[in-house]
Amino acid sequence: MNKSLSYLILWAFLSIIGVFVGCTSHKSHYVVVLSMDGFRSDYPDKAHVPTLDSLGRAGVKSAFRPSFPSVTFPNHYTLATGLHPDHHGLVNNFFYAPDLDLIYRIGDNDAVTNPAFYGGEPIWNTAEKQGLRAASFFWVGSEAPIQGMQPSICKTYDKTVPFRVRADSVIAWLQLPEEIRPRLIMWYMEEPDAIGHSDTPDSPTTIAKVEELDKVLAYFFAEARKLKHFDEIDFIVLSDHGMATYSPDKYVNLNDYLPRDSFDYIFDGVPTLLYPKETYTDSAYAILQQAPHVKAYKKGEIPEQFVYGSNPRIGDLVVIPDIGTYVQFRSESNPRLGGAHGYDNFAPEMEAIFYAAGPSFKKNVELPPMANVNLYLTIARLLNLQPAPNDGDIQVVEQLFRP
Ligand code: AMP
Ligand code: ZN
Ligand code: ZN
Repeated sequence: MNKSLSYLILWAFLSIIGVFVGCTSHKSHYVVVLSMDGFRSDYPDKAHVPTLDSLGRAGVKSAFRPSFPSVTFPNHYTLATGLHPDHHGLVNNFFYAPDLDLIYRIGDNDAVTNPAFYGGEPIWNTAEKQGLRAASFFWVGSEAPIQGMQPSICKTYDKTVPFRVRADSVIAWLQLPEEIRPRLIMWYMEEPDAIGHSDTPDSPTTIAKVEELDKVLAYFFAEARKLKHFDEIDFIVLSDHGMATYSPDKYVNLNDYLPRDSFDYIFDGVPTLLYPKETYTDSAYAILQQAPHVKAYKKGEIPEQFVYGSNPRIGDLVVIPDIGTYVQFRSESNPRLGGAHGYDNFAPEMEAIFYAAGPSFKKNVELPPMANVNLYLTIARLLNLQPAPNDGDIQVVEQLFRP
């Protein structure tokens, strides 16, 4: 008998008697992941959030360190794939892809639904390929047929859908007949990111929004608790990044330093990606060393901790503002007060919430911050899925689980 056939027979035998090497399997086990955009890790300490607090007591509370750049699309797709943006190819919310000769913009439906932008394997594909149905309510990437696949249930993005309606859909999906019920559900809310941008993370209105979101969670969990199989569901509530206040006195307009026509593409903001015309990189780099409140790097010389700089889609120059600085490259300057993210992903202001509670997780445990590349492996482990290659660390993931 050849080796692979005997392995297959052994695997089938172990499966029948319910032994899965290295992990436990449960026939009907569900994972529900909610992302609340821009929910900074310290907001729960500043607000009255009884639902999040009880989630922390019921399970594991930690914080998620975003991957660089600490913006929405790269990080949601990192959460889905377990890969750093440098490795999955969604290198910013806005970028030029020389491999496709196309520009990616988060508001551009043709770009967002084009699978060619998305590398790696999102967890919903891993699940579907291994026979488990997955559902997405607005998770970044789920609208594109990546590897020719999409989650069994997925929605076209529409930010006007009220959060409670989204919660109701998730509950309804969990009530579907068992044969078609999704085993993995990933859903999303745009707040408190929007209010953090407009009003700053320090404003009372941001804290009020956080409290409002906690009430949506209270509603969701009250409904979930009514499900017969509530005890079979592992819940994860997380965010993609935090938020920092920037002020007008530290505003930088790169237009004051560099000629626009020396660049093929400019994507300004935090961070700023610059694509200098041939031979202009060194001059632009030298000039940028004079600009205040920013650090400019040549691609390839970006400090290792950012895991950023090998992907051809990253501009030849990357400008990372200091916390407190907003950067533009515009003909008109617009210095103002506001909130932003996209900064150094190790800055405490960029840290996001992470809560996990359910039958698989430890109870009432607080863990130090973890890199968000670990979510993919966490879900794979929960659903007993063979993971695709990823940047997660199984030792970090194992700390979350009950022995
Ligand atoms: P950011 O600029 O990084 O703060 O991006 C946040 C914005 O991304 C939010 O205002 C959302 O409207 C938008 N967004 C989040 N998820 C999606 C999605 N799946 N499709 C389109 N836009 C999205
Ligand atoms: Zn975000
Ligand atoms: Zn944002």
